[in-house]
Amino acid sequence: MTTISALLSNDNCCETRGLERRDLEVLLGHCLNVPRSFLYTHPQLQPEPEQQTLFRNLCRQRQRGIPTAYLTGQQYFWDLQLQVTAPVLIPRPETELLVETALELGGRHHHKVLELGSGSGAISLVLARNRPRWRILGVEGQREALRLARRNQRMCGARNLCWRRSHWYQALAGQRFDMIISNPPYVSSLDPRLRQELRFEARTALAAEAGGLDCLRHIISGARKRLRPGGRLILEHGHRQGAAVRRLLSVNGLISVTSRRDLAGHERISIGWRHR
Ligand code: GLN
Repeated sequence: MTTISALLSNDNCCETRGLERRDLEVLLGHCLNVPRSFLYTHPQLQPEPEQQTLFRNLCRQRQRGIPTAYLTGQQYFWDLQLQVTAPVLIPRPETELLVETALELGGRHHHKVLELGSGSGAISLVLARNRPRWRILGVEGQREALRLARRNQRMCGARNLCWRRSHWYQALAGQRFDMIISNPPYVSSLDPRLRQELRFEARTALAAEAGGLDCLRHIISGARKRLRPGGRLILEHGHRQGAAVRRLLSVNGLISVTSRRDLAGHERISIGWRHR
């Protein structure tokens, strides 16, 4: 007789050993198709044998290092429950700072926004749902990611948002925007984490050459001519890349350049404006 409470204890069973409590709860909730809070209110419930087998299988995969979000196919971001699959980056809590800043700096009036490298669609979807008067375009180079973003849009609902396949600015011709936003790949391709905890996650969404600055540099160098006067570029970057990104923003003609820190105290995003 195995209860929910016994399945969640991670020291007496080889499939769950070494896993974090949070991951166990998310995986078990997924197998039982219940919210995590249910596990706390029904600790003595005994899941069906096939649910237990599924749970143990997922735990074994988690032990091999596969991210929980890929195992359940889901990740929460802001107030949205998003589908995520292997070709896209798993939305992370630090990216909420990027969204928060965009919402704050953009105000509530009409605004034309471009997101570069939209992946699962997390950023654009939150912006679109919170600012119904903005018009948002999410561009993404990978077909599979665009399909996923469209599926997330159908599930979350947002009409003021469309998607286009494009390698960064390539397919945008002469369009101009009030805001350009991006969480590009910025982990250095030499970072050992890519061979450890990040090894199962979409490498193209995570890693960049030139110490992780390659995509950031490309985005920054093309931004000024795609921004309307008074428009702004908002970028997420690595916690040691703040100074380099600020320099790139200034060198490429953007002004009032600043960075903001995430909850961990790291410089995580930088902003530059086009002169009015
Ligand atoms: N924040 C992620 C990490 O350091 C990277 C996200 C990204 O490359 N855009 O793990």
